[in-house]
Amino acid sequence: MKQVLQDLDIGELSALVAALGEKPYRARQLFEGLMQGKAISQIPVSAALKNALTEQFEDEPVKISETFVSSDGTKKFLFLLADGNIVEGVLMSYKYGNTQCVSTQVGCRMGCKFCASTLNGRVRDLTAGEILGQILAVNRAEGGTLKDRKVTNIVLMGSGEPFDNYENVVKFLRLVTAEGGIHISARNISLSTCGLVPEMRRFALEDIPLNLTVSLHAVTDAERARTMPIANKYTIADILDACAFYFARTGRRYIFEYSLIEGENCDERHALALAALLKGKPCHVNLIRLNEVKERTLKPTSEKEAYRFLGILEKQGISATLRRSMGSDIGGACGQLRAKYLAQGKANEEVSP
Ligand code: SAH
Repeated sequence: MKQVLQDLDIGELSALVAALGEKPYRARQLFEGLMQGKAISQIPVSAALKNALTEQFEDEPVKISETFVSSDGTKKFLFLLADGNIVEGVLMSYKYGNTQCVSTQVGCRMGCKFCASTLNGRVRDLTAGEILGQILAVNRAEGGTLKDRKVTNIVLMGSGEPFDNYENVVKFLRLVTAEGGIHISARNISLSTCGLVPEMRRFALEDIPLNLTVSLHAVTDAERARTMPIANKYTIADILDACAFYFARTGRRYIFEYSLIEGENCDERHALALAALLKGKPCHVNLIRLNEVKERTLKPTSEKEAYRFLGILEKQGISATLRRSMGSDIGGACGQLRAKYLAQGKANEEVSP
């Protein structure tokens, strides 16, 4: 695979343009074209410059290969990368704007028992430009521009563990929040981690005040380890300390994801223990009923039980919401669509939703 031009920030593009003997303003022109979601060959610069660039860089490193539209308006995309790998993303419409869920790795190696992304392990990390490319491609496909964006919010909750690809993810965050680009504010970005404690602490020092989200899904380390292997490495206490550190550095409250799994984590005692863990902390809990994954045996709790769990948390003074599951008819859960795509025999074959 050639390099990814979208990995470069404006300073790096300027250096490249100078090295190619071009006028300095070409860097800004290239940056703007790329941020509009254009392929190199579609940017209005000289043929000579385009040729020089496409010798070294992929013309279009992230292409939308399939789009699925759910009955609730949610769209799911399959993205084709230059080396033939596939990642997926989702665009959800809300009153305040459109939230895109992006992938940070091809597959994942964290091994969570409920998640489809990790079924075949991690294939490779995405570069910063490949993560960004998913957003640029969708913004363009939806008719958005740099002024009138069709992607207003981002969640790093697609395939992959963002903090297992730390450098590229941080570079992506700097690119996507940069002025002159698509310029999405860190406040409109949520990064979800399974709880890689050293990287959480390191990230607190990066000065990127986004919404830090941690996948908790359990109230004791032993129970957590049953569904999340990472719990054998870092304890819930370590995670809570790292969250407190993040809050101290950024002033941003943090969020816990808690997927309700039948017979696993959603009894009254779990709700009470969760409330006890989080009482008085500047945090919010996002409950979601497990999205059933075909290849997995775990089941979601009933809607009634989910509301009961929410009620207990609220009564204990914990800020919490039960999220609607969106786009489940098109494979809304992480990695489902890619898993289906792979199961059906890879590249260029039609996948019906
Ligand atoms: N690796 C990161 C981000 C990707 S997953 C993380 O672990 O946080 C985004 C969220 O979806 C996580 O909270 C993850 O635990 C959750 N998730 C994965 N599979 C799910 C499923 N089948 N049903 C409900 N939530 C799921």
